[in-house]
Amino acid sequence: MSDTFHWPEFLPAFRRAAAARGFEEELLVETAEGPLCAYTSDDNQSKRPIYLSSGIHGDEPAGPLALLQLMKEGFFTPVSSWAICPALNPTGLAAGTRDTAEGMDLNRDYHLRKTPEVKAHAAWLERQQPPELFLSLHEDYESTGFYFYEINQCDDRPERAKAILKAVGAWLPPEPERVIDDHEVREPGWIFHAAEPDLPHGWPEAIFVAKQKKCILSYTFETPSQMALEDRVAAHCAAVKTAVEA
Ligand SMILES: [Zn+2]
Repeated sequence: MSDTFHWPEFLPAFRRAAAARGFEEELLVETAEGPLCAYTSDDNQSKRPIYLSSGIHGDEPAGPLALLQLMKEGFFTPVSSWAICPALNPTGLAAGTRDTAEGMDLNRDYHLRKTPEVKAHAAWLERQQPPELFLSLHEDYESTGFYFYEINQCDDRPERAKAILKAVGAWLPPEPERVIDDHEVREPGWIFHAAEPDLPHGWPEAIFVAKQKKCILSYTFETPSQMALEDRVAAHCAAVKTAVEA
């Protein structure tokens, strides 16, 4: 589906939308395909800090497009303190590949931090206040439905997960498999994951945010790449809105 995602247009579009909503842009690192940027609203300590990211895998366009749409429509209102990284893998997004141009899967590099992208991004994350909620937007080539990982180090409230699946259900069914990526589901579409990495040195971003930043609650949303892009974008938008409001 990356034929409908145009990296050269994405970043300028996100930049314009973010500036119009009063967000500040910070350059984390330059890559061969342009800058890796973070966007923040104010860092008022009394507001709930929420962090969102997407585009760490360059062949998963629905996440970046969903964050752009939410930014354009003014979803990120000043009731929370927002930190957003919409395009963590510029060279992968430019090429439409999961990995970077150097062949690295950034979402396995948060322990060793060998890549310039993750080194810069992790250092930036260290400077942010710990998010109360982290939302990570991904896609999956093998699945036929929507699913998500929940990493929960606070209260277990199944109604949150059910609300997300219900909201997304207008566009995508839950993934029917009982085992997804070697993880047994708690209910269809819902993986309840410990705050521990599957591979000791292959930390994904969500484990770094849970362990290093002590984020008590995170959701990683996965839309099925084989479905229509507009439905996947709408599904991500619905999942983000529901998770934030729940
Ligand atoms: Zn991914």
